Amino acid sequence: MEFLRPAGWAEALAAKAAHPAAVPLAGGTDVMVEINFDHRRPEYLLDLNRIGDLYEWEVGADSVRLGASVPYSKIMENLRGELPGLSLASHTVASPQIRNRGGVGGNLGTASPAGDAHPALLAGGGEVEAVSVRGMRMIPIDDFYLGVKRNALAPDELIRAVHLKKATGPQQFSKVGTRNAMVIAVCAFGIALHPETRTVRTGIGSAAPTPIRAKTAEEFLAAALDEGGLWESRKAVPPAVARQFAMLVAGAANPIDDVRGTASYRRHALGVLARRTLGWTWEQYRGQGRTASCA
Ligand SMILES: Cc1cc2nc3c(=O)[nH]c(=O)nc-3n(C[C@H](O)[C@H](O)[C@H](O)COP(=O)(O)OP(=O)(O)OC[C@H]3O[C@@H](n4cnc5c(N)ncnc54)[C@H](O)[C@@H]3O)c2cc1C
Repeated sequence: MEFLRPAGWAEALAAKAAHPAAVPLAGGTDVMVEINFDHRRPEYLLDLNRIGDLYEWEVGADSVRLGASVPYSKIMENLRGELPGLSLASHTVASPQIRNRGGVGGNLGTASPAGDAHPALLAGGGEVEAVSVRGMRMIPIDDFYLGVKRNALAPDELIRAVHLKKATGPQQFSKVGTRNAMVIAVCAFGIALHPETRTVRTGIGSAAPTPIRAKTAEEFLAAALDEGGLWESRKAVPPAVARQFAMLVAGAANPIDDVRGTASYRRHALGVLARRTLGWTWEQYRGQGRTASCA
């Protein structure tokens, strides 16, 4: 195995162009496990750890540009206000050691349906900055996941950053696991309220071949909130609306039975997560209204 250690971004892109099968190495928390278990023996490893740009983030007026290798621990520490959904998801990843090494670029690279960043990225409406020697393109997160552990990157492309709008409303993430920490999701759910566009976005993890959105549930909820004038009044969401939303989220999933849980348990649990996270986000939204009217 040959170890490529580019000192900068241009060198990394040139190396990936010259060796498209080279496996990028960021935190290594997925790659090194695969190599140690002999699941993968790449001819080239492309170490991205010397590229400082990948560890930086920028908070703009409306959005955040998050370097691909920014570790989860930094997201939790620094971006809780701007990216609450991703920050909550970061909290649930593994252990402090893994959160200090692993990042969103690696989660996207692996594209496991169980990756915790994905529901938050889908709910937040992120875009992936994919770059090669041929140029740069932005891949909407909805188009990024192509199949089980397959993503939309071309063989010569690297992820440089992820772009996410700063939250304009409450966001939540919740995950079911077989224990409280160091656990791959049995299923996971992310929700983001977007009051400025009167829309709701969601993300489902570990309950379909890829991370997915529950679009029918989103549309149903947005319409119910609109028709009831709830965005303006900030009154409680009627229980029947919350129940229907939960049912539609469960119905959007396409889970399998595996060692972590059965398909029917996953569907049931997703319905519970959807109802709870909707309750939490809506209460936050109502609270923000009360704070604004007291100010
Ligand atoms: C003990 C343990 C527990 C874990 N628990 C969780 C968990 O709870 N939740 C969870 O979501 N994950 C978990 N993981 C998996 C892993 O930590 C995450 O997927 C993490 O986000 C990977 O990031 P990384 O930087 O370590 O990626 P790496 O391992 O370096 O890379 C992962 C993949 O992404 C590719 N890649 C990395 N950077 C780029 C880039 N810039 N451009 C293109 N491709 C790139 C790599 O080639 C590889 O295919 C766990 C792993 C371990 C070992």
